Amino acid sequence: MKLTVIGCTGSMSGPASAASSYLVQATGADEAGEELIYSVVLDLGPGAMGQMLRYLDPADLDALVISHCHADHMVDMVGMHVYRRWRPTGALGPVLTVGPGELLHRLNGVDGTPETETYATEFDFRTAVPGESFQVGPMTITPYAALHPVEAYGYRIEGPSEQVGPDGRRRQVSLAFTGDTDLCESICEMADGVDLLLAEAAFVEGRDTVRGMHLTGKRAGQLAAGTAGKAPRRPVGQLVLTHIQPWTEHRIPLRNAALAYEGPLEAATAGATWEI
Ligand SMILES: [Zn+2]
Ligand SMILES: [Zn+2]
Repeated sequence: MKLTVIGCTGSMSGPASAASSYLVQATGADEAGEELIYSVVLDLGPGAMGQMLRYLDPADLDALVISHCHADHMVDMVGMHVYRRWRPTGALGPVLTVGPGELLHRLNGVDGTPETETYATEFDFRTAVPGESFQVGPMTITPYAALHPVEAYGYRIEGPSEQVGPDGRRRQVSLAFTGDTDLCESICEMADGVDLLLAEAAFVEGRDTVRGMHLTGKRAGQLAAGTAGKAPRRPVGQLVLTHIQPWTEHRIPLRNAALAYEGPLEAATAGATWEI
């Protein structure tokens, strides 16, 4: 699987990046046995629709997966709707769209449309259910309940490795995306032993004391190390911090995360990619 950061600035767009949005791609065989690249976009925050066009033709999008309905994670669905419905060369049709049950209602709100507008020609809405996996090509995606002031989910994605091994096969690898969350048992379960953990670190130790909202770098590090929950869990292969606001220097949550997690550690930047 390959992860591309479309946007990663926390809570808003920033001078160097759009807000939260991540492209996850994996190669798998279609029903005829031909190898295809399957593409999932996680969240579509302010500015992300335009930046997504740098990496993906919306016609090639196989699923849109939304963590929660705070504006910084979903408002550019309006742009996706316009693109899919009004593309001059032909409408793109509905794309599988998984997220909170309130997603359609919230899209009506940000787009200023009545509840009679269902967006059914652009989005095939499915409500995320914790523990109920869904399939996008070779990727198995499982929602986990997050701890945030609104209905929110993290997602664990299992799929084939980007590199083919000496035996000509791809091994199963895993990636987890926290969305916005504070520490909770379900998010610890989600992160257990994944190859790559994409964890928000919006809060700074000693500065942001509200709980039940966001991770700090230290709490993201504990999540990555497998020491955050009631029971010890396997550490992750690498940790990528994201959702850092424009007013916070990356080195601060990185330093905090390193107190708890000894593995490979980076902060997301727009356009950065990881192959697992
Ligand atoms: Zn957010
Ligand atoms: Zn949020």
